[in-house]
Amino acid sequence: MPAAPRPAERSWWLEEALARPEFAGPPAPPLSRDTAADVVILGGGYTGMWTAWFLKERDPGIDVVLLESDICGGGPSGRNGGFCDGWWGHVGDMLHTYGEADALELLMTCGRSPSEIGAWCEDNGVDAWFTRGGDLAVATSPDAEGRWEGTIEAARTLGVLEEYRMLSAEEVQERCASPVFGGGMLIADAANVQPARLARGLRNVLLERGIRIYEGTPVTRFGASKPAVAETPGGTVRAGEAVIGLGAWATWWKAFRRTLTVRGSYMVITAAAPERLEELRWTGGEQVRDLRSSIHYARATPDGRIALGLGGLQPDLARRIDHRYDFHEPFARRVAADLARLFPPFADVPIEAAWGGPINVSGFTMPFFGSTGRHGNVHHGLGYTGNGVAPSHLGGKILAALATHADDGFTRLAVVSREPKRFPPEPIRSPGMLIVNRAIRRKDDREDAGRRVGRVIGLLARIPRRLGLNLGPR
Ligand SMILES: Cc1cc2nc3c(=O)[nH]c(=O)nc-3n(C[C@H](O)[C@H](O)[C@H](O)COP(=O)(O)OP(=O)(O)OC[C@H]3O[C@@H](n4cnc5c(N)ncnc54)[C@H](O)[C@@H]3O)c2cc1C
Repeated sequence: MPAAPRPAERSWWLEEALARPEFAGPPAPPLSRDTAADVVILGGGYTGMWTAWFLKERDPGIDVVLLESDICGGGPSGRNGGFCDGWWGHVGDMLHTYGEADALELLMTCGRSPSEIGAWCEDNGVDAWFTRGGDLAVATSPDAEGRWEGTIEAARTLGVLEEYRMLSAEEVQERCASPVFGGGMLIADAANVQPARLARGLRNVLLERGIRIYEGTPVTRFGASKPAVAETPGGTVRAGEAVIGLGAWATWWKAFRRTLTVRGSYMVITAAAPERLEELRWTGGEQVRDLRSSIHYARATPDGRIALGLGGLQPDLARRIDHRYDFHEPFARRVAADLARLFPPFADVPIEAAWGGPINVSGFTMPFFGSTGRHGNVHHGLGYTGNGVAPSHLGGKILAALATHADDGFTRLAVVSREPKRFPPEPIRSPGMLIVNRAIRRKDDREDAGRRVGRVIGLLARIPRRLGLNLGPR
């Protein structure tokens, strides 16, 4: 058996970024006294940081404090696959959930984010490897062929068919010659980034713009009063408005217990082997994903590595986030084996690192935003369900609007006005989801192996859809 992949210290992306002074940036020591601000932001991922950016855009004089328990980008924002795309891939579920007008508005609004992130990187001198290579969804089994038809149907209904291109198996092979890839669908309006460079670059620009960032500063108690009160080990922040950008860590807040749940996603990255990428003909910068519910997502790097991830994993009942969400050896081995199967020219290229991270899953698979608290001064943006790199940029615009009590197009979007879907209550939910989630993966794996999916597995895998959740197979 090959050696287990090395657990990355943080993620390979963060290791790469933090080794460079321009991304490590100046220190942002923990909060060590009481302070007051106009807005306090909890969480230094993309959501919290883009909110800070757009708050300053709205009001350059605003005083913003951002509290991060780890380092900015230490969570999923510095660990993800770097797929930087809007919601074109979600068009079927969006139409079903929001109806035509709202789905179209959301598609167009979030559709701007990848380009705007690219332009932001350019304007601010942040080299986040922004590559507009498109999003290539491929069938990896006969069962998966044509699984894009619902997407195409919904795109036709909304009049956005131009965004999608069907590819024959031969056309897919011209873009990425994996022996397991069949036909596919290309969405041109998608980019990919080095996620930790984006997160750290954003952090450092925020510091330059006067955002007060405190890293190593966990919020240990929060009061949704006016002012909102965020207690940390070194001091308390009082602020008129608060923004919750805690991702998966918000799952156990009373307000979100029924609307969020946690999954794990795990990645590996190979050593650089640009000649093997050439062999695969995968030199166009496309991000590649399969059409499984427990999705594989892969992208190449400018120096010729492949980073591959697998979603829909959970080491246990997922009732808390522990070290197994940073690294879990069985999952690391599994993803490494999948990489060799999907991209055989890389089978003997060493895996350089493996890591994971928690995904905050919502029932509609779309993020939800809103304001809570007796005074309406606590605002949240959560539930990206594994697609937050570009949507959190839109999320920052929405949250900045909410936190300044603006009544504008952002605060009226359906991801704000529509109540998120609720999950079944505990104690059914965690064990139920573990069983269903395993069935979903087993179904996907059997299909990929050309094996029959048993009736029980098929029935279990479809339970989420029967409950009205946009999760799992139809
Ligand atoms: C392995 C993996 C691969 C992914 N791949 C993709 C992809 O390719 N494309 C895509 O679009 N999305 C992807 N995602 C999802 C994407 O990373 C997230 O949707 C996005 O980063 C969410 O950003 P966020 O700011 O909302 O949350 P996070 O990045 O989770 O930020 C929340 C922050 O809150 C901090 N925090 C927690 N508790 C406290 C506390 N008590 N006090 C203060 N701070 C606290 C955490 O340390 C963390 O930094 C992936 C996620 C993972 C894990």
